[in-house]
Amino acid sequence: MTERISIHDSIAIDSLRRQRRVDPHRIARMRRVFYKKLEGSEAAIDELPVEVREAFAERIDFHPLRLEQRIDSASDGATKLVFVTAAGARVESVLLRPETGRTALCISSQVGCAANCDFCATGKMGFQANLSVGEMIDQVVQAAQLVAHEGRRVRNIVLMGMGEPFHNERAVDEALATLLGAEGFHHPASRVLISTVGIPEAMLRCARRFPDVGQALSLHAVRQDVREQIIPLARKHPVSELRETIASLNAIQSRTVMIEYLMLAGLNDSMADAAELVRFLDGLRVHVNLIPYNAIDDAPQLVGSTREVRDTFAHALKSAGLTTTIRYSMGADIEAACGQLVQRLDRESSRRPDET
Ligand code: SAH
Repeated sequence: MTERISIHDSIAIDSLRRQRRVDPHRIARMRRVFYKKLEGSEAAIDELPVEVREAFAERIDFHPLRLEQRIDSASDGATKLVFVTAAGARVESVLLRPETGRTALCISSQVGCAANCDFCATGKMGFQANLSVGEMIDQVVQAAQLVAHEGRRVRNIVLMGMGEPFHNERAVDEALATLLGAEGFHHPASRVLISTVGIPEAMLRCARRFPDVGQALSLHAVRQDVREQIIPLARKHPVSELRETIASLNAIQSRTVMIEYLMLAGLNDSMADAAELVRFLDGLRVHVNLIPYNAIDDAPQLVGSTREVRDTFAHALKSAGLTTTIRYSMGADIEAACGQLVQRLDRESSRRPDET
């Protein structure tokens, strides 16, 4: 059988179109129905001339991912989607629908991750595979279809799921182009955010290419030794270099850069740490997002800061004039933190290979 073509591969679709002598407008209509109206693959195919529908339906792969599990939080509006790739790997996306806020979708960029951060469940899996453009976009398509049935729209898209987006830079770049492009989702760049462990050159390339796409840096510590202790890649890119990178992003982008700061007891949560963070961020256009630690099995030595300490820390930053928010942690009951659920499912299935 001839290999199938991904709906997101515009070059391959165009060559099929030429082969079959289809008017480009019909392809544009097919895309509109699929990406914007979210009506599904059959409705999309129906936009093509009758005589080619069957051929296109056979050749085009609309969904590179299979939804394996959908888990709804009992306590808040979070839903975790576990997908399986054609190669059999699991990836997860998280839908957040706060009662009063906007619907947000968190997508993954890799299976596992090479960064191996101490506090991260995905890091503990090691690197397994890069997701393709189609696999990243399909997380958005399937989640958007799901919320469309609820009368909602995905407003914010964050690349904050499994993986380090800038370790899969080329595919992420193309996926962003499809998400933002008029032929694709045409999603406003201002509502897309990409979170990174901090890879300066890639951050700058992304800012130049997509200046309106927001960037979030997982800083987590400003003391170089502490950062190295929890983030192995910190050795390669010292905090001084990250500071320069944020300054360069500020020069390229009008948006502020988000500074993510995971709050770990005794590691980075003292008043002295707050003061150092204030000094470090002085003169930069940023906002700080303090993240409560979601404990993972593989890091028993790490303990999250108490709520009181988080509040005091936030207060110190705010008093120094920094825009600071504390991340409201949704979906704790569904293991919504990065990689937690997939890691458990993978472990269970390797323990019971005959049952899966
Ligand atoms: N690789 C990217 C994006 C994936 S993780 C990055 O490093 O930014 C998204 C965010 O969740 C990061 O800020 C990451 O540090 C944080 N995170 C990872 N594990 C966590 C945990 N157990 N509890 C709370 N936040 C966590």
